[in-house]
Amino acid sequence: MEQILSLRNVGFRYDGRWTLKGIDLDIHRGEILGILGPNGSGKSTLLRLMDGLLVPKEGEVRFRDRPLASRKRKGLAKEVAFVAQENAFRFTFSVLEVVLMGRAPHLGRLQFEGKRDIDIALHSLETMNALDLEDRSIHELSGGEKQRVLIARALAQEPQVLILDEPTSFLDIKFKREIFELLSSLNRRDGLTIVVVSHDIDLAAHYCQRLMMLKDGSLFTTGTPEAIITAANVESVYDCPVVIDRNPATGSPRVNIIGKER
Ligand code: ADP
Ligand code: MG
Repeated sequence: MEQILSLRNVGFRYDGRWTLKGIDLDIHRGEILGILGPNGSGKSTLLRLMDGLLVPKEGEVRFRDRPLASRKRKGLAKEVAFVAQENAFRFTFSVLEVVLMGRAPHLGRLQFEGKRDIDIALHSLETMNALDLEDRSIHELSGGEKQRVLIARALAQEPQVLILDEPTSFLDIKFKREIFELLSSLNRRDGLTIVVVSHDIDLAAHYCQRLMMLKDGSLFTTGTPEAIITAANVESVYDCPVVIDRNPATGSPRVNIIGKER
């Protein structure tokens, strides 16, 4: 299987103690990899390292066969797109303006967007079922609409790898499902490689071909959803009692939290 991104013994610390340590991970071309782990386990830091926003203090991240560190930011943004968790806009941009920002890596210095860039932005919106939002202000969108627009902006970069940090966290169940369905069809239709951090374990188990679990900044385990979504793994990583069974409609692993007696 071809590796598109690979992390070799990656360690990172902001100031004091190590946030990530000894991470060895290959992202395979064409897969959807889900990253699970409790709050503070280092998931967002790991994504920033994959996108080249942070540089490892130890080890190396490679895109195909070249170290990320040797790549210019703008060149890399044509290959890897990152949808961060926090996205505040200081000015009142229209949806189309926000999606056009995704074209920046393809433009020369001081060059304005042309017809081709606008076509790509509109196509990205269409892919995300968001073409009708084109003229709206980014500030007036619902959570589900905004998330689709932010993914459209990332698609406008025409990346090989799409990285998303908790894209479903603030959405209701209908929109959580919609986001995962859209990611899944991008993966199937275009072969887009996707790395997604999520606390929606059941949805991640259903839509990702492979999962990894992070605990205290180390890779706890990685494998197919069926193999690694076990009560022992989930309880150990999240420190929460659970029973695992199968979703009766889909057969995918399902996590049931064991509440205290009522
Ligand atoms: P997760 O996304 O799994 O919740 P993060 O990668 O955001 O975890 O954070 C992992 C650890 O790194 C936490 O202890 C957090 O406080 C710390 N951390 C995150 N960002 C910074 C930062 N900019 N400066 C210092 N420490 C940080
Ligand atoms: Mg995070």
